[in-house]
Amino acid sequence: MNRSVLVSGGNRGIGLAIAQSFVKAGDRVAVTYRTGEPPDGLLGVHCDLSRPETIESAFDEAERVNGPVEVLVANAGVSRDMLLLQMEDQDFLDVVDTNLTGAFRMARRAAGGMLGARWGRLIFVSSAVALMGAAGQANYAASKAGLVGFARSLAWELGSRNITSNVVTPGAIETDMVSGVSQARREAVIQMTPLGRTGTPEDVAGVVQFLASEAAGFVTGAVIPVSGGFAMGH
Ligand code: NDP
Repeated sequence: MNRSVLVSGGNRGIGLAIAQSFVKAGDRVAVTYRTGEPPDGLLGVHCDLSRPETIESAFDEAERVNGPVEVLVANAGVSRDMLLLQMEDQDFLDVVDTNLTGAFRMARRAAGGMLGARWGRLIFVSSAVALMGAAGQANYAASKAGLVGFARSLAWELGSRNITSNVVTPGAIETDMVSGVSQARREAVIQMTPLGRTGTPEDVAGVVQFLASEAAGFVTGAVIPVSGGFAMGH
């Protein structure tokens, strides 16, 4: 479709699958990466969300090559799981800084161009945990729940300029982020999942692709689970 797309954390996991789906759709895609090398065949722009100046330089580089960002997928995120009484201030602040403040900074940077173009798609990757909570994930759940209020506020602020702002809430998706989860925990989650499996990064990419499409032109402020039915009803 030849849109300029920027995916944060697009070097691996869910973000990489999202980026590849946009490439397949014919878009001009840039991905941010923080560590290692950018993936083959994709325009990689270095960005560490905890360092705001790198968000600016990542946008500058992506826009120099691809033009103003028309679709932003704020996907990068971290977890640092521990129980409340063990959680230091920094464990809370760092997770919120990356997952929520980082998404805020990216959306603010992207919105200027979208307002000028009177068209845009903001898509935030939250989590099923945002809505149901999880023991040991208070910092992560708070950051991901914050994305819902944030995205819905942008839906109000930017809707008159034909900019949509939506959230996806994945359940357990097979990436590095869940590779440390015990087999017992994985089986327990599958037991609570009507579709009887964990998800793939491509499962999430398909829904993001829809939200970026013209077919979703009247969808904004939505929170769409991609969880096989896990946590449905929240
Ligand atoms: P991964 O751990 O595989 O990838 C995380 C991505 O985020 C990497 O690209 C990483 O970059 C990037 N990232 C982390 N911290 C920063 C930072 N400070 N600045 C810039 N980039 C950063 O995770 P997933 O692919 O599984 O997760 C993608 C998103 O989906 C996350 O927001 C996650 O919370 C969410 N999610 C994941 C679920 C799952 O079950 N996997 C379930 C629900 C939501 P780098 O490689 O350089 O470290």
